[in-house]
Amino acid sequence: MTIKKFDAEIGKVLHLMINSIYTNKDIFLRELISNASDACEKKRHQVLQDVEQEGNYSFCIEISIDKRHNTITIQDNGIGMSASELDKNLGTIAHSGTKIFMDNLNLQGDSTKNSQIGQFGVGFYSAFMVAESVEVISKKSPSEAAHIWQSNGHSEYEITPLPETSAYDINSSGTKIVLHIKPECSEYLEEYKIRHIVKIYSDNITFPVYLLKANGEKEQINTAEAIWLRPKSEISTEQYDEFYKLICHMPGSPWSYLHFTCEGKNSFTALLYIPGNRPYDLFNPERATRAKLYVHKVFITDSAAILPAYLRFVRGIVDSEDLPLNISRETLQNNHLISQMRRNIVKRILKSLKDIAANDKEKYKAFWQNFGEVMKEGLCEGALEEKEELLEVCRFKSTKSGNDLISLDEYISNMQDGQNEIYFFSCEADSSFSKSPQLEGFLKRRIEVILLSDQVDDFWVNVIHQYKNNLVKSVNTASADPGSTKSDDSSHTQGAANEDLKGKNAAIIAFCKKVLSTKVKDVIISNKLTESPACITVPDGSMSTKMEKMLIEQRQLTTHSAKILELNPNHTLVRFIGANCDKEEHVKEAETILNIIFSSALLTEGQTLHDPFAYVQNVNEMLSKLIA
Ligand code: ADP
Ligand code: MG
Repeated sequence: MTIKKFDAEIGKVLHLMINSIYTNKDIFLRELISNASDACEKKRHQVLQDVEQEGNYSFCIEISIDKRHNTITIQDNGIGMSASELDKNLGTIAHSGTKIFMDNLNLQGDSTKNSQIGQFGVGFYSAFMVAESVEVISKKSPSEAAHIWQSNGHSEYEITPLPETSAYDINSSGTKIVLHIKPECSEYLEEYKIRHIVKIYSDNITFPVYLLKANGEKEQINTAEAIWLRPKSEISTEQYDEFYKLICHMPGSPWSYLHFTCEGKNSFTALLYIPGNRPYDLFNPERATRAKLYVHKVFITDSAAILPAYLRFVRGIVDSEDLPLNISRETLQNNHLISQMRRNIVKRILKSLKDIAANDKEKYKAFWQNFGEVMKEGLCEGALEEKEELLEVCRFKSTKSGNDLISLDEYISNMQDGQNEIYFFSCEADSSFSKSPQLEGFLKRRIEVILLSDQVDDFWVNVIHQYKNNLVKSVNTASADPGSTKSDDSSHTQGAANEDLKGKNAAIIAFCKKVLSTKVKDVIISNKLTESPACITVPDGSMSTKMEKMLIEQRQLTTHSAKILELNPNHTLVRFIGANCDKEEHVKEAETILNIIFSSALLTEGQTLHDPFAYVQNVNEMLSKLIA
């Protein structure tokens, strides 16, 4: 006999289950039936894979009540558990339902008085809300021994082989859960109560749930019909929501759902949900998708690639009519029916997002805040077929959007006369963009700039160069010129004066290039600046400074590349340089000022200085002159 302790987190869950003020105890049955149904699906899948095992399986879940002993028994003929699986699955918290529950409690902070608990899948341990002790008898196959797991939900459990003569034994395979109902929960020993709970929570379980009645009769108490195959008009919102909780293991209500059938050579029905909050595993490195693939109502797998990784937050089921039932994992990998289905599903999802975005901006904003970052991962894929459709549903902050989010189409309709570039600026999430030198000229000329601050933004902007005939351009590149639109009114000078200016500018540029030498890639006169003397940019097609910085931090790059220095020809300091770069008595000062301007521009870009000591020395020198 082995007595073991629950792991620490389970201890917390159990404590909560038993002592919380939580009122909706009914859901214990939903959780146990959902586990039984999962077990039947797993077994059915195993049988389908294995020609040897061909037999007459009819899966079902049976509930019986024993009023004399105050027990409820829930039995399935599913996959069953070995002794070690009983230990792993019921003694540690690695499993989904309970994990979501715990994650959510941690998020909420308060772990005892939480009225929202009822929304979550709380898993197996919810049995202890109504039972003072629980026995789980389980068996993997007719030839293996059954084991019994027992606990009173305090801190320990015990697993022992089931005596061969036990009346609890299971014929072939499956699990039997015996709940010893607490005296104050005796209402659950009534047939009507069980019937009622199953109808509300478990009607959509695709296996029949039977109630073994006191008179010996067996009554089916759920519809056992695949909800996705029923006509939409016959399904209520509550039923859709209930199925969401059941199949997606997600709390609350979905943000939206799509239910459609695709007819043709490759027919399938899909019922897909966009969750109302972020699934806990959204940013797991595998980026695994979770939609479940069924063939003719039979669960096959939840690891077929029926969704692209950038839609991995979408949950639900896809039921194919044309895939073979015994399809193996290998054939699923590059099956053309699957990729056809995926293409179709992606189109539908993007279309539905577009419709919602058009009809309800606020609702869409909530979606985008949850999943925008993930959606934009799709843009990074060079060969993405649906690039334009995906870009259409992307939303952004901009220099004019305030608290709203805008689409690229809205951006385009707000463009200035003559503007044919979509400008974006890469900045930190909470930074005040209005202080950035690169934006000065755009803000002054009222040219809208899209603000990007997610990490994924630094990647897709290197892949997407164009949207609906407009170039997508970073204001951090030297060629992004706010002076190129017709609205520009300040810096175009005419005729002879223009020639004179050009000559002066050429002299400044030559001087700067000489002084800064290899520290800059180029020096140009810029339209971008109104307040600042200078800023740093990169050539078209180069990596952004933000991206470069990130790669250096991750040690994927070792050195910074030389940048372009853009100068504001109207700034006092730049004028000073222009006026003095050929005067022997002031050239030293002009040089020092240029070095300070250049280093300061690097600093505002978040760059490190080649020689911080020289910079400090230069600043001190100029300050000393000021007070001399
Ligand atoms: P979840 O169902 O979200 O994984 P639970 O706490 O409900 O979390 O269940 C924990 C695990 O115990 C399940 O993942 C499953 O492996 C196992 N389990 C529970 N009930 C059964 C059952 N009736 N038959 C087989 N395995 C079961
Ligand atoms: Mg469960």
